[in-house]
Amino acid sequence: MYRSHNCGALRASNIGEVVTLSGWVQRVRNMGGMTFIDLRDRYGITQLAFNEGWNEELLASARQLGREYVIRIEGEVLERESKNPKMATGEIEIKVTDLQLLNAAKTPPFTIETETDGGEELRMKYRYLDLRRDPLQEHIMLRHRVAQAVRAFLNSEDFLEVETPYLIKSTPEGARDFVVPSRMNQGQFYALPQSPQTFKQLLMVSGYDRYYQIVRCFRDEDLRADRQPEFTQVDCEMAFVEQEDILQQFEGLIKSLLKELKGLEIDTVPRLSYAEAMERYGNDKPDIRFGMELCNLNALSQGQGFKVFDEAELVVGISVPAAASYSRKQLDALTNWVKRPQIGMQGLIYSKFNEDGSYKSSVDKFFDQEAQAKWHKAAGSKSGDLLLILAGKETQTRKAMSELRLHMGENLGLRNPEVFAPLWVLDFPLLEWDEESGRFHAMHHPFTSPKPEDLELLDTNPGAVRANAYDMVLNGNEIGGGSIRIHDREVQSRMFEVLGFSKEEAQAQFGFLMDAFEYGAPPHGGIAFGFDRLVALLGGSETIRDFIAFPKNNAGRDLMINSPASIDHTQLQELGIGLESSAE
Ligand code: ASP
Repeated sequence: MYRSHNCGALRASNIGEVVTLSGWVQRVRNMGGMTFIDLRDRYGITQLAFNEGWNEELLASARQLGREYVIRIEGEVLERESKNPKMATGEIEIKVTDLQLLNAAKTPPFTIETETDGGEELRMKYRYLDLRRDPLQEHIMLRHRVAQAVRAFLNSEDFLEVETPYLIKSTPEGARDFVVPSRMNQGQFYALPQSPQTFKQLLMVSGYDRYYQIVRCFRDEDLRADRQPEFTQVDCEMAFVEQEDILQQFEGLIKSLLKELKGLEIDTVPRLSYAEAMERYGNDKPDIRFGMELCNLNALSQGQGFKVFDEAELVVGISVPAAASYSRKQLDALTNWVKRPQIGMQGLIYSKFNEDGSYKSSVDKFFDQEAQAKWHKAAGSKSGDLLLILAGKETQTRKAMSELRLHMGENLGLRNPEVFAPLWVLDFPLLEWDEESGRFHAMHHPFTSPKPEDLELLDTNPGAVRANAYDMVLNGNEIGGGSIRIHDREVQSRMFEVLGFSKEEAQAQFGFLMDAFEYGAPPHGGIAFGFDRLVALLGGSETIRDFIAFPKNNAGRDLMINSPASIDHTQLQELGIGLESSAE
């Protein structure tokens, strides 16, 4: 027997018991005639004690142990002389009577401690060692708990967990597919699913009216920071529902998760239309934990002789609470911040609403006290606030202001990771104009249903058609998105047409789905949550990589197994994708 208890289990109530423990040596401390070892497993740490007077041989072997050695011990639970109230097992220690070395360990390339000295790359290469560290263990355990809570909620609501295949044909979700060559069908390829979208819709046609799956999805995108080529979704679909049913159902899910995992009671999840979110926050995934809403200043700032404003498509401001006292240096730093290439603005204009009621701005020459008073009034300032203003091309300026707002929120400590503010964003545009290809793309995906009242605009003004699509946003992150689907063959086929598919292309790629719509497809809709991001946020972080056991790095590589990698020539030949010339 390797263990009677784990390393986090023993308490004062166990004093006097004889126990067996196994684990890793965290630390060996020699003090005079005594040696203490911290023995670690995923449940905790237990202190082992060795004493010259008890058994010299044992003491000698204990002193030979190195960090991360794997050992098994037997011993008696003693009351500790100096108790450690910070440790769950801090009241006891083990008087060791038998020590067995199960496996020695090389000195790890970085310390297995909460704060480690290992750099990112090294830790990725030795991920199995990094996973021994407390923070990572907590993340992986949290991930497990979130998955269990998701399942418990959805199971209790009659959802069925159904698996869908990984070797499929392309699903157009806007990214590139990862492809897998077929040996048995040479020259042909499977695609790995970007999501189970078409399958879950087919399950609705099959009558499994509430489906979910915690499922891996694959997207071959240029990796932006904190994106993974494979990631996990909580994928859901329901039949006989309208948008409202889905919003309520999944509002229930997020509430139950926040309750279960964070002990938080959320009353209702507020809703914003896409248009309103863009207008008020400059962003379709606003962080609503704080105010500083965007204020359009075009009318109050243009036509008064200041060229920067006059030539701008958009003049927009935010009022930063209690920041009128910002120094020249602080304002310069903000100006440099908006001029960084990632933000790309020419400059930043400010107006201070001083405590004494006067105004002071960087454009006093053009705008008198009265003019500035109007801006501050429009932006909802109080005395002591600082108005920050950007001007330029509409889309870029709005985006920049949204970034600046988040930056100020961060600076002022308003983005507390322990505060959770979920939000629905509704009424997304159905289509998005793509300059490059000169045609419309589906903003969500091609199976999303237009709002019935906007259907006729599809011919006259496609860009104005709104979709029955919704996102769930949490603290400025999109954590879920979905839509009511098209379930009518004609509408679906019309949609493909609008998206520039020929009849033949649409039939070849999605014939199976459109055919299915002719065999009694119920009205349906669904949503998918980004599970990695959800777990990270619940863990108080925005870095998903830290919440995935074996993630890839920013270049899409697994540094531990060193993948992707080349495969050997015979394998290529078997797949029929060997180099022709070398085949002879
Ligand atoms: N398949 C969609 C996605 O991955 C989600 C959905 O529409 O349910 O974004």
